[in-house]
Amino acid sequence: MTNGAGIITTLIHETENGAIDRAVEKIFDSELVALPTETVYGLAADALNDVAVKKIYHAKGRPSHNPLICHVSNNAMAQRYVRVTPLAKLLMDSFWPGPLTIVLPQIPENGIAPTVSAGLETLAVRCPAANTTREIISKLDRPIAAPSANISGKLSPTTAQDVLNDFDGKIPLIIDGGATKVGIESTIVAVHDNQIKLLRPGMVTADDIVHATSVPVRDYEGTQIVAPGQLQSHYAPNAAVLLNQENTGEHFFIGFGDTTGDLNLSPNGDLAEAAHNLFQHLRSADKHTEGSIALASIPNSGIGIAINDRLKRASAPRDESST
Ligand code: AMP
Ligand code: MG
Repeated sequence: MTNGAGIITTLIHETENGAIDRAVEKIFDSELVALPTETVYGLAADALNDVAVKKIYHAKGRPSHNPLICHVSNNAMAQRYVRVTPLAKLLMDSFWPGPLTIVLPQIPENGIAPTVSAGLETLAVRCPAANTTREIISKLDRPIAAPSANISGKLSPTTAQDVLNDFDGKIPLIIDGGATKVGIESTIVAVHDNQIKLLRPGMVTADDIVHATSVPVRDYEGTQIVAPGQLQSHYAPNAAVLLNQENTGEHFFIGFGDTTGDLNLSPNGDLAEAAHNLFQHLRSADKHTEGSIALASIPNSGIGIAINDRLKRASAPRDESST
């Protein structure tokens, strides 16, 4: 578990004695630690430490213009760094801890390393549901910057082994919390002037947000890159990906519901289960075929919107600038 640079990667289970303290120590030491969250595994650094945060971009090969999400242990920690309007507070109270990221204006001179937000005046904040990671943040008493723990442009990691495959010999510590529950990245919204804009769909749907806030949710309609939704290729396996297919037997086929194949995202047609299996099935498909991966069509409603968003990116022409 070492490479030429001499970094030894240790993988420990979250329930192992001292796991939390070891993660805290490494992060305080300006090191990167991969941590479990309910969405996907994150590659974490001290968000107040510019040297540490730069290591994230370097390790992932992530373009420096693509900002990171800051993970906090509770609403109070978020309030130290961003302006929390009553609408933002309602979102936090409704969905935290959980898979909703909220982009808010930063409080000036808040100490957050400028590289976290790629120089933007806003900061994306989220309180993860995974207890171990929340406890680590709480012990640090400061936020961690943590994008998905994968090499930029590749599939997001839903197990500690996925992280090890990408970062063995490159980071000192991986905390294993088992397979992630949600399986796809958080929903991202921007809250500004009492309006909510959806920047990336996820498990928390636009309908969930409208239900909780009675505020309409708008789609992002700009040209500036503010979310990975604006980068065409993302979350891509090595093989070419074909969407909305019938199973002709020609390609490795990932089915859904009654449309069966080599694998099935959810034989019962359950979209949450399909999200949970999505990246793992794409990884398996990649291992098992030299040819293309074909997928059954997924209903474009509820969580299906987030699944189709990831699939659209996985099937897009490959773009070097994606993350
Ligand atoms: P990842 O951590 O890989 O899931 O990516 C996080 C995504 O959050 C980035 O790709 C950004 O698009 C988005 N994001 C982070 N910070 C901001 C921000 N201040 N404004 C808008 N989007 C953001
Ligand atoms: Mg990512």
